Amino acid sequence: MTTPVYQNFINGHFLANQSGETFAVKNPATDAVIYHVEVADGFIQSAAIQSAQQGFAAWSAMMPIERSRILLKAVALLRERNDELAKIEVLDTGKPWQEAQCVDVQTGADVIEYFAGLAPAQVGQQQMVGEDFYYTRKEPLGICAGIGAWNYPLQIACWKSGPALAAGNALIFKPSEETPLGAIKLAEIYTEAGVPAGVFNVVQGAAEVGQWLTQSPDIEKVSFTGEVGTGKKVVASAAGSLKDVTMELGGKSPLLVFDDADVSQAVGAAMLGNFYTQGEVCTNCTRIYVHKNIYQEFIAELKTRTEQNIIAGDPLDPEVNFGALISKAHHGLVMSYIDKGIAEGATLLTGGKALCPDSAPKGYFVAPTVFIDCSDDMTIVKEEIFGPVMSVLVFDDEDDVIRRANDTHLGLAAGVFTQDIKRAHRVTHRLQAGICWINSYGNSPAEMPVGGYKHSGIGRENGIETLDHYTQTKSIYVGMSNIESPF
Ligand code: NAD
Repeated sequence: MTTPVYQNFINGHFLANQSGETFAVKNPATDAVIYHVEVADGFIQSAAIQSAQQGFAAWSAMMPIERSRILLKAVALLRERNDELAKIEVLDTGKPWQEAQCVDVQTGADVIEYFAGLAPAQVGQQQMVGEDFYYTRKEPLGICAGIGAWNYPLQIACWKSGPALAAGNALIFKPSEETPLGAIKLAEIYTEAGVPAGVFNVVQGAAEVGQWLTQSPDIEKVSFTGEVGTGKKVVASAAGSLKDVTMELGGKSPLLVFDDADVSQAVGAAMLGNFYTQGEVCTNCTRIYVHKNIYQEFIAELKTRTEQNIIAGDPLDPEVNFGALISKAHHGLVMSYIDKGIAEGATLLTGGKALCPDSAPKGYFVAPTVFIDCSDDMTIVKEEIFGPVMSVLVFDDEDDVIRRANDTHLGLAAGVFTQDIKRAHRVTHRLQAGICWINSYGNSPAEMPVGGYKHSGIGRENGIETLDHYTQTKSIYVGMSNIESPF
């Protein structure tokens, strides 16, 4: 059976490359190739820039409210096609239908809707300076680039294009080579909604295509989602042309469970923050610090619920709530971390092995895994694993657990479970993380800025401030009196 071949999406339509080079995309739940994609060669790259220049000229000249109306049409189309798009995400990523159907498309649409609403409200300032005055204009940057990770492919494309387009920029987006189809579907939807040709182009490929975007002198900004190591390369490369950067990188986030916490709620949060999307979420709370007074109760409930409530299998089955990891290579990496955990002396509370569910026997599944008897210096406690592997640690002192939680070069997220309102705020104010949840974990509404401290990122996505990251301020001074010149 022949599989479809998708071309790059440039200037409002599909465009064939000249090299003929393609890559294959596999369904992680079946190990089968589901389609091929053409790589963005030099011809495509030039066409992407040329059309983005033309698209930018047309789009940035429109009134913000006109752009807003068009983006809202795209939002309506995204919601109408929720199930079709969610299925693409399930086949590309291996995540359960149960999640994709109610989260991936909707949270992407929410963000475009939010920025479409904000676009006409963006205003400059004016101030009198004696008889003279100045005013400021918020102007778009020009052509921006977005580079995405594979865990939330369509959502990432929406989260980057929403503010970029609302502010009047053109965006050239490169999805991960593991999950390239969602961004193409978004490009089709933008085109159908009336976004002018060239305003949202999709280029396909792996690191080389990403490198081209970060180096191109015609691109003003790069917004990147991916690993810390790749992010450092992107920042270094972008520096060559002094690009603005937004970096959404990895994490190793702590969850602190105090002895007055609602234990069942905290167990639920720990499971959500480790097993949702089979552990492939950047904000995951992979270090769970539990107060010694409730430790036994916590791990007993955690073991029972993990062993009884998680259903791994064909991700398209609506009963399944735990999917396959993205690739064979990533599966191998996650298993190697589990081996290191065992070798370094941690104890398996549950899991620790590959899974082979009857409904998806060739999928890249790893059992939901919980390690206890962990110490802060173990590899599994220090490094981002990006799989369903939780480490549980014990504490008995507030200051000490805050010190331990902060003892990492990463700082994406953190969580605190306690009934003591003063402690909740006192502790979160001292945690070095860009996103903190109190008696909650993982919620990320469009209104709330998200991004990392330390090596977990630069800049923010979502929330009002993000629109500023896609504009530049022009100050215009107006002389009302005669100029004074010594010449
Ligand atoms: P990755 O860094 O391997 O790849 C990310 C993207 O960068 C891909 O599109 C890839 O093709 C591209 N790329 C690779 N090398 C490049 C280079 N030298 N120059 C430019 N582009 C290059 O990350 P991944 O494996 O796709 O995603 C998993 C990582 O993403 C995890 O670390 C996770 O924590 C992180 N992530 C962070 C967030 C966040 O919002 N903070 C969200 C999702 C994922």
